Amino acid sequence: MSAPDTRSSQRNANRSRVIGALRQRGAMSRGALLDVGLSRSTVQSVVDELLGAGTVIEVGPNTTRNTGRPPILVGLRGSLGVTVGVEIANGVVRLAVCNVAQELLLHDAVTVDDHNTPAETLEITSAVIDKMLAGTGFRRGQVIGVGIAMPGPIQRRTGLIGRACTLTPWVGINAKTVAAEVLRLPVLVDNDANLAAIAEVTWGAARGLHDITYIYTATGIGAGFVINGELYVGANGTAGEIGHTTIDENGLVCECGGRGCLNTLANPNAITQNLLQSHGARLSIADVISLAHDGDAGCRRVLSDAGRHIGVAMANMYNLLDPELIVFGGNLAAAGAILIDPLRESMARRAIHAGEAIPPVVAGELDDRVVVVGAAAAVLRDSVNFPMPLLNTG
Ligand SMILES: [Zn+2]
Repeated sequence: MSAPDTRSSQRNANRSRVIGALRQRGAMSRGALLDVGLSRSTVQSVVDELLGAGTVIEVGPNTTRNTGRPPILVGLRGSLGVTVGVEIANGVVRLAVCNVAQELLLHDAVTVDDHNTPAETLEITSAVIDKMLAGTGFRRGQVIGVGIAMPGPIQRRTGLIGRACTLTPWVGINAKTVAAEVLRLPVLVDNDANLAAIAEVTWGAARGLHDITYIYTATGIGAGFVINGELYVGANGTAGEIGHTTIDENGLVCECGGRGCLNTLANPNAITQNLLQSHGARLSIADVISLAHDGDAGCRRVLSDAGRHIGVAMANMYNLLDPELIVFGGNLAAAGAILIDPLRESMARRAIHAGEAIPPVVAGELDDRVVVVGAAAAVLRDSVNFPMPLLNTG
């Protein structure tokens, strides 16, 4: 290789590192960009080059610093492209369009029948994506990728959706292949809890942390693990299926075929089931939480029992992984202290301390869009499989 080629490939590699950091972390000061492992003069020259090309722009001072002259931040130009987040959930598909500057431009949701085939649900999704792109002024060609969240594990080697998925028509389906065919866009697929963990690390309660566990409560209970700053999915892609850990060996049979899984004791269905005798009609989990906040003793009791059961699973998880923070999100998070206090107590009784305090358990900071914005963020983090244009071609 001749010297000019080497220099040019080195320049490309440096540019990729700076762009990758801005995609993953949003606008940063030139000083913070030194974290990517380049010298100050190289960062300066790469940033100058990207500013000249219009790939990055200066986005004003960092207002979180209150001493000295605030540094000017540089960030990617939002008009260069967008990512689309799609959350396929029980009864609903949520969507979000986010630009490469990490700005959420638009979100939407559409109700769907859980018995739909995957292709039927994706056709509906495709039509909503077109409508949302029209609403934000972007073309399909400017979509760098679509992140799809599924309510269940994705087998890592085969890409097939595992049997623990709460949407049965999707079990055994390669969602990535089917989605790429129907949507005609580059696709990434991961499970809801993993993507919600990415959202909380990118924008929420775990911002900037490296070792966290995110608990996502939806139809089932799942966990997303961020270890050393990276999502941990395991050899088969099933890491974090905490809802299927055994809490009661002699308990009820779970959808997965196991007995006494956490889901059979603490998922919304199990919680509302407990109130059939006392409250007559079947309540929704939102009703149970709202009644509990109004002081209903039975509703408070079933939520605190659920918290205790989840705490047992959390203690076992903590003893193995030692995260610095546990973020609790999803539809049970609205119960707040009624559920989280018994969870903490139950966890503290079983967790090893090693003289240290066990990690804080906090409610997630992002609302019911946490999974879908995480799906959009996951595409931004993967600059290898989802490259973006470096010049604005209009
Ligand atoms: Zn199970």
